[in-house]
Amino acid sequence: MLRTHHCGELRLAEAGIRVTLAGWLQRSRDFGGMTFIDLRDRYGITQLVFNMETDAGLCEEARKLGREYVIQVTGKVAERSNKNPNLPTGDIEIIVEEIKVLNQAKIPPFTIEDKTDGGDELRMQYRYLDLRRPVVRKNMELRHRMAMETRNYLSDQGFLEIETPFMIRSTPEGARDFVVPSRMNPGEFYALPQSPQTFKQLLMVSGFDRYFQIVRCFRDEDLRADRQPEFTQIDCEMSFVEREDVLHTFEGLTRHLFSKVKGLQTDPFPRMTYADAMRLYGSDKPDIRFGMTFFELTPWVRGHGFPVFDSAELVAGINVPGAAGYTRKQLDELTDWVKRPQIGAKGLVYVRYNEDGTLKSSVDKFYTEEQLKKWASEMDARPGDLMLILSGDTHHTRKALGELRLEMGQRLGLRNPEVFSPLWVVDFPLLEWDEEAARFFAMHHPFTSPLPDDIPLLATDPGKVRADAYDLVINGVEIGGGSIRIHDRGLQQQMFKALGFSEQEARSQFGFLLNAFEFGAPPHGGIAFGFDRLCSLFGGSESIRDFIAFPKNNAGRDVMINSPAPISEAQLKELNIRTV
Ligand code: ASP
Repeated sequence: MLRTHHCGELRLAEAGIRVTLAGWLQRSRDFGGMTFIDLRDRYGITQLVFNMETDAGLCEEARKLGREYVIQVTGKVAERSNKNPNLPTGDIEIIVEEIKVLNQAKIPPFTIEDKTDGGDELRMQYRYLDLRRPVVRKNMELRHRMAMETRNYLSDQGFLEIETPFMIRSTPEGARDFVVPSRMNPGEFYALPQSPQTFKQLLMVSGFDRYFQIVRCFRDEDLRADRQPEFTQIDCEMSFVEREDVLHTFEGLTRHLFSKVKGLQTDPFPRMTYADAMRLYGSDKPDIRFGMTFFELTPWVRGHGFPVFDSAELVAGINVPGAAGYTRKQLDELTDWVKRPQIGAKGLVYVRYNEDGTLKSSVDKFYTEEQLKKWASEMDARPGDLMLILSGDTHHTRKALGELRLEMGQRLGLRNPEVFSPLWVVDFPLLEWDEEAARFFAMHHPFTSPLPDDIPLLATDPGKVRADAYDLVINGVEIGGGSIRIHDRGLQQQMFKALGFSEQEARSQFGFLLNAFEFGAPPHGGIAFGFDRLCSLFGGSESIRDFIAFPKNNAGRDVMINSPAPISEAQLKELNIRTV
């Protein structure tokens, strides 16, 4: 070994012993007679001292070392006179006797500090240096702990980790596939899995009973901030279970992680139907760290000559506690905010419930104070509150009001990243109508079972069928989702029919699964958690990239290895790919 200890290890108890350390030179400081060096490795920082009086030659040598040089030093552990309480090793320093340069280093393009001077692009280009920064390294350590605890928990619950292939076949449902040309089968392609969905269901047919995998998934989706073309899931499937069993097991996993990784005990997770989530929060992933749920005012506001409300399908609002003091300017700014194309509201109606009990609104022309009082009582508003009201068609109004609610929650400091509010959203619609394709798509995937009560609707009113599907949502972030699957051939056929697949099309795309299901498929269901997102939530960051060692940028590029990249004519030819 090139060291006796690592850089985060030594304490006062070791004072007087002779040690050898190795690591990177974080920083050096010269004070005339003395030189100090901070030596860094994965475990921490230890201070080295060189004294001009006792060993001028060594001190001179130390002064020549540059930032990020890799060095090995031997010396005595000594108590520091000037202790640093912010450093675990801050009580001691090493009086160096020997120094060896193991490797030189160019000056790094940005400072290797928690607060670096490097921009995003530069840090990504030199990600291996970025990863030396303690804040980034801590994220990787957190990710490791999360993965270990996930494996421990699931293994203890009888789950087997089984790998499924990365080179599979393309199926048109879901997102776009990444494909890989097959040299040996000209004109044919593998697809990279969007998830191991079909394989994990096949493993249930095989009788494995409980499967999990921490697995990479690939989706060629349009670029959006903080989406990665390859990402990691905790993917699971269980046999002979109902929804309750899956929720119980994975609530258990989540609580285990909160407890082991964050030291937090969590209450049982509340459940909310999709319909309630939309009605009260305008979102299927509500942030329930704070209230401000929607109130529907439609019947109270119609018929008073205000055309905007009279023609609206839905008039709904939120009551913002303690915000009656919002100035005209702030309200104008908020109105502009909801009118931005991303939010899409046509306008904003406000009612101020002043501290003195009077009410003032932007629609005073149409409504008496008495009427406004009625709204206030409907909305549980109190003096000092501000009511914000949107109107229009139900879908867009709820969506926009949901955004406004989050914005107000943010402005009022109600979205503390150290507070965690998980919930299960259940009973999603089974199908989603796509205007452009003029057909239904599976909201989750085509193997999701309808709720037993809703099966008859599949033939008569497919849009109304609810799925036996569930999402885990924490702080407004969708952490995971899954469903009870269809294991009955007849029901699966009905589902394909509702999706507009002919028998033939279903066979050609999912034949292998349908065949397998004819050999005794057990009732089964499962779930997948987005692992990167779960890590970033635990780490208190908005960005999943901070928790992936080598992420891609928002254009899907790895700027460090400069990928994707063209391949040679010869390679193309070998792969039977013609270029224009
Ligand atoms: N495979 C699904 C997904 O990736 C999760 C599941 O249904 O288990 O969303």
